[in-house]
Amino acid sequence: MAGIGHIAVGLACARAYSEDRTLRLKPALIFSALALWPDADALGFLLGVGYGESMGHRGATHSLAVGLFVVLGAYIFAQRRGLAPLRTAGYVAIATLSHCLLDTVTYGGGLGCALLWPLSDARFWSPVRFIPISPIGVAILSARGFKVMAAEVGIFLPLWLYALWPRRRRAPAAP
Ligand SMILES: [Zn+2]
Repeated sequence: MAGIGHIAVGLACARAYSEDRTLRLKPALIFSALALWPDADALGFLLGVGYGESMGHRGATHSLAVGLFVVLGAYIFAQRRGLAPLRTAGYVAIATLSHCLLDTVTYGGGLGCALLWPLSDARFWSPVRFIPISPIGVAILSARGFKVMAAEVGIFLPLWLYALWPRRRRAPAAP
């Protein structure tokens, strides 16, 4: 994925998480980062980490164990900050764990996700795959990369609409 779909998930989570269902900048950035962060492992390509290694792209950061660790961290953070811990952890789970699962529905090359790391380095694909895989790094700024981005805008259109559709303001209550 080119990341467009992951951002759509993050923005939709940010809007749903807000008390009044509006999209605010800070939660939008936080949830988008939570939905995107597993792909930080692509930096491993620059450091010589092999694609198929545990710490390679779609390896450990794309596992359910690491995702659940982030969810647990969000729960503890929310508890300490006086936020609803279960609600916060639930939305963080959607943003973070959706990344691992969405990557398994991509097609067109690459490797699946190490969902069961550290128990296994096996890479998994979904039996149904409908999102084109994206070129990695600067190659994303190619004709194929833009085509994948356009496909993700279309596939995730309902989430984009939910996240960005202007919200009707309620009329002030009569005194
Ligand atoms: Zn990924």
